[in-house]
Amino acid sequence: MKGHDGGPGTYGAAGPGRKPDIYNLLSEHLIYPFFDAVRGTRNIKRFNFLRKSQYWPREDLERYTDRLLRDIIRHAYDTVPYYHRIFKERGLKPEDMRTAGDLKKLPVLRKEDIKANWKDMVSTTHGGQGIEYRTGGSTGTPLRFLVTKDMLSWGSAAVYRIMEWAGIMLGDRGVLIWGSNFDINEKKSLYQRIRGRIKRYTILDAFILNEERLRTYASVLHDIRPRFIRGYASPLYMVARYIEENGLPAPHPLAVISTSEKLYDFQREKIEEVFQCPVFDHYGGRETSLSASECREHHGYHLSVENTIVEIARGDEVVGPGELGEMLLTDLHNRAMPFIRYAVGDLAAMGPDEKGPCGISLPFLSRLEGRLHHFIVTRDGTYIPGEFFPHMMKDLEGVREYQVYQRNRGEVEIRLVLAGDAGSTDSMEETIRERIAMYAPDLEVRFRYMDSIPVPESGKRLFTLSEAAGDMSGSPETNSGGVGES
Ligand SMILES: [Zn+2]
Repeated sequence: MKGHDGGPGTYGAAGPGRKPDIYNLLSEHLIYPFFDAVRGTRNIKRFNFLRKSQYWPREDLERYTDRLLRDIIRHAYDTVPYYHRIFKERGLKPEDMRTAGDLKKLPVLRKEDIKANWKDMVSTTHGGQGIEYRTGGSTGTPLRFLVTKDMLSWGSAAVYRIMEWAGIMLGDRGVLIWGSNFDINEKKSLYQRIRGRIKRYTILDAFILNEERLRTYASVLHDIRPRFIRGYASPLYMVARYIEENGLPAPHPLAVISTSEKLYDFQREKIEEVFQCPVFDHYGGRETSLSASECREHHGYHLSVENTIVEIARGDEVVGPGELGEMLLTDLHNRAMPFIRYAVGDLAAMGPDEKGPCGISLPFLSRLEGRLHHFIVTRDGTYIPGEFFPHMMKDLEGVREYQVYQRNRGEVEIRLVLAGDAGSTDSMEETIRERIAMYAPDLEVRFRYMDSIPVPESGKRLFTLSEAAGDMSGSPETNSGGVGES
């Protein structure tokens, strides 16, 4: 375990690879600890731990996470009525759960289960420490749940770590392009603005992206000259494309970190071309403290296993490396409302069980697929992966924005926002129909022209939005066909 650290400010093979400047040092040793003290979090302490644990031998990591797992299982059994009941029903005792491999003895936890058992899922001893969070307006089934400051600290620390993989240090100037909170009051907003100033990041709202906004953002990016840009994939792509199309000067940060949304290859290529820096794809969530992110070798998504145990399953069966399945997350730090085997709604495949070329020993996903509602379902129950549609649409001229919307199986509505000079739409419609027919001849296609695509409350833009894909845990293999691959 010793001997990996490359000295202060560099932190081994996965560190930022450069010396910190005075503001980086101030941030790490004064500013961030100050905000930790104000909020009662321990982000920096956790960050320093995660910087070391990422190099531990795999056996040490597993021993560590299994111990945390046993603690949270015991806690759930003792203080969470829902889990006490589950254990009783299955004739299980906490002692039966020794390692991550034992998790399969417990049922998968779905959003419906959480809603139906909400009160019983709150810890009788730690529920009072819970902070209420919400997610997922986009599916029409928003989820409300509790988290703790401890869990949030681990989550933030894991994000600092993935930033470091991208070469970014605390205190580096950054621009964030994502959604703002609707539920925020003025006092909180002022606090956030001040905090942003001190931590040296600027937030650009990704909820509304029209011509005027894009022009403003391009000039803000140019003026600020950020060391990093972080945001949702599609706004990042839109800004990059706008800069290119209008021949505007582009900033050249050290890295762009794409988050929350599925990042398509054509988006990555455009962003890298315009900003002339690598893109790091990051996956996180609010329900658990998991961060999964690319390292500088870009060979997969390293998991913050110190925070969250990840299983890949089809139905009740855990599947092996390389096989695509549902992600089941067990958070190791949320004592207010423990989530054990939570089906977050995304699909992934575990990478080979070996150390990556980067020197980081954290296990990694080899594949990470979009949310379940990205899949379009045909009448015979075939799932068409969301990636199909951007491939289909990307070379069509005159389309400013689009969304593939599905209310019922077997039919689909192509929503289009046209550029001002789009001209006739007949040949475009014909092309789209032909392309879809190549893969799903029985899919009924309708067109709808709109002034703008409605953005869900979460701010995450979805290319494909299906209300018919539902819970597909019974047949996850249907999405692994070659549809949409180019
Ligand atoms: Zn790696």
